[in-house]
Amino acid sequence: MENLIIIGSGPAGWTAAIYAARASLSPLVIEGALTQENQEKGTLPMGQLATTTEVENFPGFPAGDLSSFISTAIPEDRRIMLNPRDSSPSPVAGPELVELIRTQAVSFGTRVVSDDVVDVDFEHSPFKLISASGSVYETKTVIIATGASAQYLGLPSEQSYKNRGVSACAVCDGALPRYRNKPIAVVGGGDTAVEEAEYLAKYGSKVYLIHRRGQLRASKILADRAMANPKIEILWNRTVAEILGDDLQGVTGVRLDSTVGDKPLSLAVSGVFIAIGHRPNVEFLHGKIALTEAGYIAKPRGFCTETSVPGIFAAGDVADEHYRQAITAAASGCMAALDAERYIAANC
Ligand code: NAP
Repeated sequence: MENLIIIGSGPAGWTAAIYAARASLSPLVIEGALTQENQEKGTLPMGQLATTTEVENFPGFPAGDLSSFISTAIPEDRRIMLNPRDSSPSPVAGPELVELIRTQAVSFGTRVVSDDVVDVDFEHSPFKLISASGSVYETKTVIIATGASAQYLGLPSEQSYKNRGVSACAVCDGALPRYRNKPIAVVGGGDTAVEEAEYLAKYGSKVYLIHRRGQLRASKILADRAMANPKIEILWNRTVAEILGDDLQGVTGVRLDSTVGDKPLSLAVSGVFIAIGHRPNVEFLHGKIALTEAGYIAKPRGFCTETSVPGIFAAGDVADEHYRQAITAAASGCMAALDAERYIAANC
């Protein structure tokens, strides 16, 4: 019987684990499994931070020479998953940041299992979690921190060319030979889209940023940077009608419609990166927890992280339709651990 099981391994899950471990709850984190299925669904362990480039807005991490810090703080067997770093000053990378938070959690005694939770029984205490490998975990409390994964446009042509020119992760796929020195399209107008466009501009000959409105949603600093990049061309008021390609080459182009009555437009591109937001990862709950209208985990007790089931808490992007930042995820992980600790003290 566990005191606390944390499902999910982004900044919310690991921060919850740091607090719970330091409160002697001996938390168990079920971090997800490294499987092809998770890769396709965008639900690999370590969450969305592990698929981002540089993180410039996490407090305490100004750009600098982090090479010796990373190599002394993160154990060697985990460092091999990170890109090598030289001593030139640069911001912390997303994968480095989440690995640092994981290392901190493990250093205080957090136990980690690489598996996926596929079903839950929240009817009675102790709660039960059923994993993909067939294990059944019993626990007094649960923190759900499973994050969110990339949304796709829903076009049949998008589905046909997934992994053959259609991607939702520039960091994962951008360096592939098929994109080198070729034009690339990015769809979306938020922070993710402009960041991905900037990243891909390092590899492609040109990046078209396709946005359905005449104004970016992205924060001003990131939007200004993308607009000043000579390799990025923003195509305003455009939507993707179809992704073009063939069996041999995968993606070869896109056909765009106009949202303001202009003529359709076709572009030759070697890939289309979809960056149109995320949906919360709640499928494994099978409706056993109340959700908001938008599909996020509801937290009926206002500020508190408790869900519709007492003893089950939620943190990070799976329960956040407003902020969705690494720092707010980490903060809510802290709150969930404190809530779980108080619940155990009062009820278990
Ligand atoms: P987002 O802010 O929700 O933006 C999604 C973008 O995709 C919007 O521009 C939206 O258009 C567009 N879009 C949505 N559905 C579409 C569709 N079906 N067809 C075409 N376009 C569509 O998502 P995000 O960029 O992934 O960012 C999510 C959160 O993470 C945000 O809070 C963001 O600030 C944060 N984030 C922060 C950083 C950073 O600080 N470095 C980096 C990445 C993400 P409309 O504008 O018309 O709605």
